[in-house]
Amino acid sequence: MADVIPFDQRDGSLWYDGALVPWQSAKTHVLTHGLHYASCVFEGERIYGGTIYKLKEHTARLFKSAEILGMKIPYTEEQINQACIDAAAAQDIKDGYIRPVAFRGSEMMAVSAQNTKIHVAVACWPWPSYFSPAEKLKGIRLDISRWKRPAPDTEPVHAKAAGLYMICTISKHEAEAKGYADALMFDYRGLVAEATGANVFFVQDGVLHTPIPDCFLNGITRQSVIAIAKARQIKVVERHIEPAEMSGFSECFLTGSAAEVTPVSEIGSYRFKPGALSETLMHAYADEVRGKATVTA
Ligand code: PMP
Repeated sequence: MADVIPFDQRDGSLWYDGALVPWQSAKTHVLTHGLHYASCVFEGERIYGGTIYKLKEHTARLFKSAEILGMKIPYTEEQINQACIDAAAAQDIKDGYIRPVAFRGSEMMAVSAQNTKIHVAVACWPWPSYFSPAEKLKGIRLDISRWKRPAPDTEPVHAKAAGLYMICTISKHEAEAKGYADALMFDYRGLVAEATGANVFFVQDGVLHTPIPDCFLNGITRQSVIAIAKARQIKVVERHIEPAEMSGFSECFLTGSAAEVTPVSEIGSYRFKPGALSETLMHAYADEVRGKATVTA
């Protein structure tokens, strides 16, 4: 991969607390509650051909995540939608990634943070797809994480909140150290849950099976792919999936705003062969996000 320019050293502008500001001056103090106590929620969305895919759904989830953490975002959803559009326009990005983030500021530095200001920023950067469809169809290899998705009464599991990513980063680093692309995580019950930043689907006899999102994010891409499949008369079963069942699945793929539809060839000792269904959904999703689709969920 080409050298990545550190994210604080890029040029241009991003949206920060109500206005576009020079990218490199969008700073926050080291004594920021969001940094110390993970009072931080965020989104990850893609812009395709100049249109942000499911912008309103992502903004709505940002507000929901903030509400779950007791943070009141001091803007309307319409203002944040516009901020996303402005952040992309400022960088002149037609195909890229958008990162809105909301976090508690520096007014208090303890567990209690009632009087902290809620800051919001939105940045956009180019994010080309590194893999051609043919390369993607080879499938990626996943490790099985030793970390479990927590129970709904242990963490605010339905918020896209920074703290929930602590175990994702550890899992992904451990997987990468072993040569894997990513890791699959089980949940607190030992059931199949999701990857570190994407949902998972399996194929068995032409039917899609995917875990019920009762302790992890019900991804926007997951919902799009389910709608696309159903519109094509492909049956989708949302159910609890035991790890041992993976030996009976022929195909597997991940879904996510960043991952899009990514076929999987291996999860630990389980093997899959990316096939017709993964390929169909990969292309149908690519069409949908570029507005060429027959289905909009
Ligand atoms: N699970 C996790 C842990 C994620 O980070 C993501 C990416 N936001 C997803 C699932 C997929 O969500 P979406 O399709 O809304 O991007």
